[in-house]
Amino acid sequence: MSKIQSLSPKNLEEYSTFFTDNKEKKFVIFAGGTDLMIDRFSIEGSIIIDISYLEECRGIKADEKHITIGAATTLNEILSSQEVQTKIPILIDAIKTMASIQVRNRATIGGNIGNASPAGDTITPLVVLETKIEIFSPESNEVRTIPIKTLFSGPSATTLEKGEIIIKIIIPLRKDKDIFCYFRKIGQRNAMTITKASLSAIAKYLDSKIEWIKLAPGSVSPVVKRMSKTEEFLKGKELTPAVINKAKEIIANEISPITDIRSTKAFRVLITK
Ligand SMILES: Cc1cc2nc3c(=O)[nH]c(=O)nc-3n(C[C@H](O)[C@H](O)[C@H](O)COP(=O)(O)OP(=O)(O)OC[C@H]3O[C@@H](n4cnc5c(N)ncnc54)[C@H](O)[C@@H]3O)c2cc1C
Repeated sequence: MSKIQSLSPKNLEEYSTFFTDNKEKKFVIFAGGTDLMIDRFSIEGSIIIDISYLEECRGIKADEKHITIGAATTLNEILSSQEVQTKIPILIDAIKTMASIQVRNRATIGGNIGNASPAGDTITPLVVLETKIEIFSPESNEVRTIPIKTLFSGPSATTLEKGEIIIKIIIPLRKDKDIFCYFRKIGQRNAMTITKASLSAIAKYLDSKIEWIKLAPGSVSPVVKRMSKTEEFLKGKELTPAVINKAKEIIANEISPITDIRSTKAFRVLITK
């Protein structure tokens, strides 16, 4: 059995100093471990950085314009938050479909994002909400903010540099009235199921027409992304059967699903439509 080296830094400065002293080693950021422990042999030989005690990664704060969620906040902590329940119901709808109570007690929002799976259920709502994420670099000891959509570079791959930590998830709040939010996930069954295909949508209606709409399907392309052609087509239109049929055609051409152990390409196209 190989030895495992780990660090539970109390603050980012402590982590940065440790990183500088051990730069040549491999690092793995460890939050709830619910993804990492599935393939635990892959982290052998790395220094495990347990971010659970990092104050900068904890808690949920709200102001007039944003809700900011620490990356190490668990999914159940988010579900219990009054602020998130009232202001970002689409995120609550998505988290409710995830795993079990026991897993959600450990699993974190930062871990779901950091895992970068196209099936990650918090990712599609965060993408339509135009979320930004704060990233800490232990190399420069600095924090930068990027749109979440630029984080993903492929299935299970991110643009994070070695040792970087997502510390905060910053979700802008919309002032507009008549906003419609929708999250739907199709899996093998209703509970404890990984997404075969999903959709997050937010839209604003004006006089029964769509003023704007943002759509992000899950598990149907290498990374979660917005469906800009479908969104553009729907803008200013009433949802008649003809418009819906045309939108289905456009979205089917915007996604690029594959066949894998969870589903087939054909089924993913069918349920996205
Ligand atoms: C039984 C079971 C059911 C599940 N069901 C679902 C489901 O329905 N939907 C779903 O989307 N997922 C599901 N998952 C997957 C998993 O629970 C989630 O992806 C969870 O949110 C991961 O969070 P974590 O804190 O456990 O991440 P970890 O396992 O600690 O980390 C996951 C990855 O993210 C990286 N990481 C973690 N935190 C950060 C950070 N702050 N900054 C940078 N990188 C970071 C890690 O290095 C690792 O690569 C399930 C898992 C299990 C075991």
